[in-house]
Parts: sequence; structure tokens; C-alpha cells
Amino acid sequence: MGSPRKSSASSMVKAVFDHLDSNGWHGFTVGINDDVTHKSISVKEEIDTEQEGIARCKFWGYGSDGTVSANKSAIKIIGESTDLFVQGYFQYDSNKSGGYTVSHLRFGKKPIQSEYLLNKVDFVALHRPQYIGQYDILEGITEGGTFLINSSQKPENIFRLFTRDMQETIWKKKIKVFAIDASTEIKELVPAGSGEFADLVIDPILRLKGDTIPVSRMPLNGAVPTGTKKLEYRGVPGNPAIWIDKLDFVKEPYIAEPYIEYPPSCSGCGEVPYIHLVTQLYGDRMMIANATCCTSIYGGTFPTIPYTKDSKGKGPAWANSLFEDNAEYGFGMRMAVDSNRKQLKTNVIALIPLLNNAPLRNALERSDVI
Ligand code: SF4
Repeated sequence: MGSPRKSSASSMVKAVFDHLDSNGWHGFTVGINDDVTHKSISVKEEIDTEQEGIARCKFWGYGSDGTVSANKSAIKIIGESTDLFVQGYFQYDSNKSGGYTVSHLRFGKKPIQSEYLLNKVDFVALHRPQYIGQYDILEGITEGGTFLINSSQKPENIFRLFTRDMQETIWKKKIKVFAIDASTEIKELVPAGSGEFADLVIDPILRLKGDTIPVSRMPLNGAVPTGTKKLEYRGVPGNPAIWIDKLDFVKEPYIAEPYIEYPPSCSGCGEVPYIHLVTQLYGDRMMIANATCCTSIYGGTFPTIPYTKDSKGKGPAWANSLFEDNAEYGFGMRMAVDSNRKQLKTNVIALIPLLNNAPLRNALERSDVI
């Protein structure tokens, strides 16, 4: 239980004890749907172990919009200047800018013992209305809870912005809805359907429903398609992908196209132009052993990848070894390539005398392989 970063909620802990109480077997998992080994135990009941009198607030924002900083300041001020106990958990995706953020805050008069993300919420604030329909914004909201949305729409038009599910939740749970216009214009590009991996893996993860993906949908060899970052293009002003695209020299026809697009680095990151350039020079035959650092985060974070391929299907192959042995890791890749070439040469030399096709034989004799 408890793979890294996976929240282990009380309901899962209860499921483990129930399992042990009913002559449970070893080697099980909880919190995932392992339809390959079938060793997952199910979480049958949702329990609420939150203490009485705790106010629970969730804020949906996007990277670099100030939501997280503001919430950190708020809990600091409240913690220092009132007699309330406070807690803040901050959930991000790995994009350095423009990704989603969710701030989970608790306030109460007694020490807070819930060491997990909120699964029940009394107050939800949505700073980016474009998330409606993408994320389950009102998930876990309590009866009579409050929903605050940042929107430039007139009050009479706000309700129709919501999905049917949201509208039903608001009606059934008697949610109080407030709107405030504090927005700047953000562009949105809705991901288009783009193959099975995009539909079955990328899409649910981008909707924060990755926990529902069964194990069998994971690639057997760990390889994932490249060129998928565009599916979550966020249109965040200042994203390097946008200003790089705008540079005239990139658009000159005699300059090679880069094999990277929309890397979610910090705005203005100085590394991106170098990556851009090196892919223009070698991208169609490039293998990248990426040391662990910012470039490994915005260069190859599951499930979307900014490295791309061309119309011939050629583009960088990318991998990251996680630990500080990247030189050895890259050296291993080099040795594998050398070994494959040596094997190919051996096979071609053995094949040539057997060939009746003279042009093919001549071509092989003159080729780089031998
Ligand atoms: S290297 Fe780039 S992505 Fe990383 S922190 Fe610096 S500016 Fe941000």
C-alpha cells in the first residue's frame, strides 16, 4: 500500500483491516485496480474520519497564478494570529508553469490529525473556470457547502457554465454559489482524440482520474508515445513554447523543425532554447539519457511528452534513470547501440555471399554498415 505520491486515505486503511479480518492473504495492493495480477483488494465503503469542527477548503488554481502562495500566506497568518490550528497540503502536477494546482486547507480549534488530502470539503474555490468539465471540481463537497467561482460572466449566466453533474450536485446538496470576476484571459485548447493511449491513459490523468486506470492499460515495456504534450496545451502567457514558436528564425524554411514542443518549463527558462537547438541538429537520430533535473521533469513526465517525431516517425528516444548515475546510464545506451551495430555488421557480412541480387549486394558492400 502507499506507492509514492499516492494518497492513502482512511477508507483504504479500513479496507486493509477488513481484508486481514477475513483471513486476508499476503502480497495485496489497495488503491489501484490491478487487473493484471488481480491482487488488488477493493475499497467497499467510504468512511469519513475527519474530526468534528474542522473547516475544509479546496482551491483550484493553475501554476504561477499565485493561488498556492496566497494560501500559504493565509494559513501562516491564521496560524500565527488566531488560536486556530491550521494545515495546508498543496497538490501540483509536474509542469513548471501552467499546470493545475489544488490547495487543501484545514482549520480547527483542536490539533488536526488528518494527514491526507481532503476527500470531504466545505468550501471550494475555482480560480480557473476552464477546468469545468475537465476536473471533478465539486467532488466531496458537503451538504450546504460553498462554491466560489472566478468568472467574468454575469451572475444570471453563471449556473449554465456548469456541467450537468455539477448542477445536480448544487441542487441536491443545496450548495451556496458565489462568483467573483478576478480573471485575466486564458486561452484553452481542448485536447482532440488522438489514439488509444491518449483516450485511455492521458485523458483520465489530465482529468485527475488517473487512479481509476487499471494496471492493464500501462505499457508493458514502459514506453509511451512522444509528441503528446500538445494534447494538454494550456495557452499560459509566457510559456516558452509560445514565444519560441513566435521567433522568426524558427519559421524560416531552411531551418530544421525542432523535435520538442510545449515544454512546460518555467516561463523564460534558459535551458529550453538549447534543447530546442540540439533537437534541430540531431533530433531524428537522437537518444537522450536525461539526468534528473528540471529537464527530466518537463521533458518526460508521464503521461505527456514534449519531444516529438517527424512525418517519417523519427524523433528523439528519451529516458531518465532517476538516480545520479546518468553518465553510466547513457554509456549503457551507447554500448547497446554499438553492440547492435556490431551484430548487424556480422549478419550483413554473412548474408552478402548468399545474395543473388547484384544491386543489393553492391549496395550492402558499399554501405556504412560494413
Ligand atoms: S532550470 Fe528552467 S525550468 Fe528549472 S527552475 Fe530554472 S527556469 Fe525553471
